[in-house]
Amino acid sequence: MFNTHHQSEPNPITGAPRGGAVTPPGPSSTAASAPDSPINSVTPHSSRGPMMRPIAPLRLPALEDRDAAGSVKPRAAGPGGFDRARIERAVRELLAGLGEDPTRDGLLDTPSRVARAYAEMCAGLTDDAGVHLARQFDQECDGPVVLRDIQFTSICEHHLLPFVGKAHVAYLPGNGKVVGLSKLVRTVEVFARRPQVQERLTLQIASALEEHLSPRGVAVLVQGQHSCMQLRGVRQADPVMTTMSLRGVYRDHPDSRREILTLLQTGAAAG
Ligand SMILES: [Zn+2]
Repeated sequence: MFNTHHQSEPNPITGAPRGGAVTPPGPSSTAASAPDSPINSVTPHSSRGPMMRPIAPLRLPALEDRDAAGSVKPRAAGPGGFDRARIERAVRELLAGLGEDPTRDGLLDTPSRVARAYAEMCAGLTDDAGVHLARQFDQECDGPVVLRDIQFTSICEHHLLPFVGKAHVAYLPGNGKVVGLSKLVRTVEVFARRPQVQERLTLQIASALEEHLSPRGVAVLVQGQHSCMQLRGVRQADPVMTTMSLRGVYRDHPDSRREILTLLQTGAAAG
């Protein structure tokens, strides 16, 4: 279920994340074990307020392919292919199914607008976290690298409605190699910008860091607000869902886990 795409170009993100790296002393080790996460909880109220931000400009995948002569040919439909014409047809059909008139003035350009919006919101489908995380550099580091408050927008795959939130990411370098902080942001974006559920988003971020950085530990905490819960169904105004995935020492050693969770949640070392 873990996607790896290699045919893609990176999506540059110009917005710098808030928060920063902190490198407290290394974790202590107490042998124990705990089940892997995600641990999921929904809190009915958040003091954090709305998590929306202006969407960072992305380089979008081309909406169509061109052949050797330069003429446009439609992309293959199905997995791995973005088919703009097919999306436009589907949106027209959706509007008709709602009882709307897709040919009236205000709706005429809606199908192409929706196709462009989905190309942007699903750009992660043709991106590869491994490409971003391959750019490592040598740096001895005896404590965790933590980046908090990485804002993301994603699409709930059950309702195709957005969910937005923040990811807090940490890894404990294991081989004298680290990555630039922007690569952690891009890793979050790769998995957020696609039809998704928050539980899998959390696991995929953790798995990518574990696979590509060979760290001693990984901890990922994601907080999301789901518009499918705000706009329909139970209609809760402000619930925040929290998911977590822990790997390596953060899964296996309670002291390390406590320390990293404090860092992820507050940005400050426990003590
Ligand atoms: Zn949903």
